Amino acid sequence: MAAVTSKVNLKLMIDTEGRRVLYAEAGKDFVDFLFYILALPAGTFIPLLNQEMVGSLGNIYDSIENLSTSYLRPNVTKDSLLKPRAYFSADTGLPLHLPNVESSRKLYRCHCESVSYDSNAFCSKCSSYIRSESKYIGPPCANDPYSSTVGDYVKEKVTYMVMDDLAVKPFSTTSLTTLLNKLNVKDIGALEEKVVDLGMEEVVKLLKASLLTKSSILTDVFLPIVKEEVN
Ligand SMILES: [Zn+2]
Repeated sequence: MAAVTSKVNLKLMIDTEGRRVLYAEAGKDFVDFLFYILALPAGTFIPLLNQEMVGSLGNIYDSIENLSTSYLRPNVTKDSLLKPRAYFSADTGLPLHLPNVESSRKLYRCHCESVSYDSNAFCSKCSSYIRSESKYIGPPCANDPYSSTVGDYVKEKVTYMVMDDLAVKPFSTTSLTTLLNKLNVKDIGALEEKVVDLGMEEVVKLLKASLLTKSSILTDVFLPIVKEEVN
């Protein structure tokens, strides 16, 4: 679990003249996190957006909030719909955390190998308590919450280029040159490298920005932080 507390950082390439982040150099940690966002239930991030939601998913969310519980089946609570929890195996150590995403949900089994999330459930099949901690050993499936491969998608020791719009590709001098040309960067001297750490706060901002804008996510999230540090 050591990885959970480890810091994830990004090396930003800032165009001080154009006041924008051109791209970020990132390692596996950050790219895994970006890819993991796609596996999250939509309900986990709607509350983060408050009223800023551009699409209409927020209306579904509000409808549930406003619906009388008398319309819901007896075993359904509003919280289970409004605050879905995403789980992943404690072994994966996905380093960046979001609210509502928990790092461990354990499985337990009894003598007959029935399983439960409850560590003290009674199995009527073999008349024993379901107490032994169990591990998922099915075929590795990237988004099965019990598979150790969830949140573990790309290879290590590769540097990736994350564009301002969050497009990701392996870092190469060719793609760098193409990018600088495309963005019309003429004065290399105006470029500045800056390493930023990512914590929960930055991750939430990043997620929000990614849902609200299409083109300038890194600039919107990190430029104000970098400026603050300079002042
Ligand atoms: Zn049993």
